[in-house]
Amino acid sequence: MSASAASTVTFESRFATELAEMGIPWKAEEVPSPRLLVLNEPLAAELGFDPAFLSSPEGLPLLIGNAVPDGATPVAQAYSGHQFGWFAPRLGDGRALLLGEIAGVDGRLRDIHLKGSGRTPFARGGDGLAVVGPMLREYIVSEAMHALGIPTTRSLAVVATDRPVQRETVLPGAVLTRIAGSHLRVGSFQYARATGDGALLRRLADHAIARHYPDAAEADTPYLALFDAVIGPQASLVAQWMLVGFIHGVMNTDNMAISGETIDYGPCAFMDAFDPATVYSSIDETGRYAYANQPLIAEWNLARLAEAMLPLFDDDEELAVERAQESLGAFRQQYSATWFAGMKAKLGLDGVADDDASPLTDELLGLLREGRVDYTSFFRRLGSTARGKGGPARSMFPEPEAFDAWAERWRALNPDADAMDRINPAYVPRNHLVEEALGSATEGDLGPLQRLLEAVTDPYNERPGVERYAEGAPESFGPYRTFCGT
Ligand code: AMP
Ligand code: MG
Repeated sequence: MSASAASTVTFESRFATELAEMGIPWKAEEVPSPRLLVLNEPLAAELGFDPAFLSSPEGLPLLIGNAVPDGATPVAQAYSGHQFGWFAPRLGDGRALLLGEIAGVDGRLRDIHLKGSGRTPFARGGDGLAVVGPMLREYIVSEAMHALGIPTTRSLAVVATDRPVQRETVLPGAVLTRIAGSHLRVGSFQYARATGDGALLRRLADHAIARHYPDAAEADTPYLALFDAVIGPQASLVAQWMLVGFIHGVMNTDNMAISGETIDYGPCAFMDAFDPATVYSSIDETGRYAYANQPLIAEWNLARLAEAMLPLFDDDEELAVERAQESLGAFRQQYSATWFAGMKAKLGLDGVADDDASPLTDELLGLLREGRVDYTSFFRRLGSTARGKGGPARSMFPEPEAFDAWAERWRALNPDADAMDRINPAYVPRNHLVEEALGSATEGDLGPLQRLLEAVTDPYNERPGVERYAEGAPESFGPYRTFCGT
């Protein structure tokens, strides 16, 4: 049975055909004995796949690109990127492939993409492979982000290849099947610009407009409208990261999607103790991508996007720069507005005047930092304080008197406890739980992974039986470091 006969999903190859200069047709490495580790059944159904088919011996090769359906032209995508501030003109998919685009049952077009599918012409020194732990990390964290309501690429499956991969030690290999609005990155525009081919840059922009921001096509200046359209979702995305305590870890321009989705989960983590300077990534030695820097970096990345798009804004370079700067000015305002509205909501103060809420939020963040208070637990427990039970949140502060004084003023504004419970998650993929799940899965026990996924994919609904998923790390866990997803 061919893959296309058993799947009703139609694959397209729009990127591969419309932007042929930006993709190298390529095939995933053959995996003799693929083994499904996890399949996202609800997502499979949303995409129109029969989950039973995908997990069958006929479906698995489709999931890892070993069976190429009719209509698909898998490509390794070319892109550039500023990595930790330094421009690399030729990055591209070194160990990934775009299988093609598929329309879900809602008709919306999405990319279906592989990570860990073997060396491509962009692999440079890399082996083209991925290992079980980091691929499951992306699966867990992306699905948690989705459940939190934050735009993100999705994870359809992780398939074990049962081949050894050499890292610091020998680790089991895996392929992640990823679904995304698209894989157009800031780095894609940088690549098109760097080719010097103005027509290619224009085609890429047209492709992005058609795919993500069709209203821009109707504007007087469509390419400036495209740039404007990218800014809002990006500002809102980073504000949402900040509100849930998410640290991406490697916000290089090749890891920023034009769609406004969170993309490329590598050394990412959710913050435990609140501290704006938090960095978990072992490769981020200077703290460039620290928690508090994320909005600044997003803005910096958008400035790089503007630079790449300049010839599309105006023939006169000076005018083009002026227009780009004007547009980029919206980022800070949109970021601040989204963040502040979100923080008010976390405090149950939706209807309260900004001037009343603002001093309270500033002061609270100071208290959380001084006390090194667990960020996720604090906001969840604060719901009880709103209901008149001060204890659970209060006991998190080494010196609770300052919190008492703050809480008295806050409660005078009548915070809405039920609304708080709908916006402050009880369960996020905490670092110690993620490590536990990945460690067990690498050893062959998928139980902890499944239980963690159950908790974090229903994050607001606090329920008995999963208490340990709401708790902070035990003292023994120690300082946390994440390693790049290789
Ligand atoms: P990332 O840090 O995952 O965003 O990747 C940065 C760049 O390195 C991209 O061009 C990747 O395709 C490439 N890369 C990362 N790991 C590997 C690997 N194991 N083999 C080949 N290329 C890789
Ligand atoms: Mg990347």
